[in-house]
Amino acid sequence: DRPKVVVIGGGAGGATTARYIAKDSEGAVDVTLIEANPQYTTCFFSNLYLGGFRDFDSITHTYDKLASNYGISVVNGMADTVDREAKEVVMADGSRVPYDRLVIAPGIDLIWDSVPGYSEEAAEIMPHSWKAGPQTQLLKSKLDAIENGQQIIMVAPPNPYRCPPGPYERASMFAHVLKSKGLTDSKIIIIDPKPKFSKQGLFQEGWEKHYPGMVEWYGPDVHGGITGVDPAAGTVTTDLDTFKGALVNVIPAQRAGAIVAKAGLTDDSGFVPIDPYSMRSKADENIFVVGDATIAGDMPKSAFSANSQAKVAAMTIRGELTDSKVFPAKYANTCWSLIETDDGVKVGAQYAPTDEKIASTTSFISQTGEDGALRKATYEESIGWYAGITNDIFG
Ligand code: FAD
Repeated sequence: DRPKVVVIGGGAGGATTARYIAKDSEGAVDVTLIEANPQYTTCFFSNLYLGGFRDFDSITHTYDKLASNYGISVVNGMADTVDREAKEVVMADGSRVPYDRLVIAPGIDLIWDSVPGYSEEAAEIMPHSWKAGPQTQLLKSKLDAIENGQQIIMVAPPNPYRCPPGPYERASMFAHVLKSKGLTDSKIIIIDPKPKFSKQGLFQEGWEKHYPGMVEWYGPDVHGGITGVDPAAGTVTTDLDTFKGALVNVIPAQRAGAIVAKAGLTDDSGFVPIDPYSMRSKADENIFVVGDATIAGDMPKSAFSANSQAKVAAMTIRGELTDSKVFPAKYANTCWSLIETDDGVKVGAQYAPTDEKIASTTSFISQTGEDGALRKATYEESIGWYAGITNDIFG
């Protein structure tokens, strides 16, 4: 009998792990991928969809090639919990899927009540769009309905959250849409629980250059602390003020997808401690966790990171199950952001494991004042990256 690997979660981390194990073991390992949804819309580049730079179909992918080209059994369903003793995944319908090694990559869950007044129902009025799909389309339709002079309010998330520059790239795309339609009396106000944010200097320079007077960012020393939202009134209240928006985008605090807590793999942070050399869960030697659900040291929560971690987990698992060679782990990440047409910026790093954590070894960031040709080249690099990584994830 072939050894069995089960992967829960068909996103950037899970689908990459499944594909690499199936591809590199050339059928010697039986790989099953359990995913709740029949297709996957990427959060990455969803801001470009909001800005009108991509269409929705171009950011939506299916699992067809993973099944047909690599022989992966794709199960469309929700995993409920893990019976670690029996080494079985327990599905929501009660059925059980046995494994020799389990990979879990459930992404994040939103902590709804981290913003008082916010809830899953409220998200139908004040979309988060921090999980892509119908939420992304809802946000786009509300953005496209803005009239001149109406305000957009964004409640930014506290650390740690997926895609550190994501909220600020999104604000840039909001501004791009308003400016393109001549709605320059409208404002975008970002209410942030953090005193500073990723690529702040680059974003603020870009907002001043491309969208003068349109994007305002308020840290806690200005608003005094976020006290709640009122979906019916369309307001966000803070200690010092009330903000009203025709569109309110609330991005709440985040924790690992529920199944890893249910399986007993998380610590008090709500995320999963892993072995930096292998992405193996510290709580169970037969379970690996990759992507946003992990505590990955210096690595940010990104699709690039998840894909990079997945390759380390896949190599380790294949080595254990088929005696193939295992090389020392290394990791990489780059996060690109688009500020305005052809004005792309990036931040990134290489990483290596230490006993303590995944630690960054070298890093780079775009500089303020760069010329237009370099910024255009940076944007074009991101387009190449998207095409490459989605092939690497979905085949
Ligand atoms: P996900 O990709 O979220 O995949 C998790 C999957 O698991 C989902 O498909 C879910 O349905 C499934 N699942 C969860 N629980 C279960 C269960 N119990 N049973 C079955 N299935 C389950 N990253 C970048 O690298 N570059 C970017 O430019 C970028 N831009 C972003 C912009 C925005 C607006 C946002 C929100 C994020 C962005 N990211 C970007 C971050 C990136 O989307 C995430 O870091 C990445 O998707 C994490 O991958 P993952 O595999 O951990 O989780």
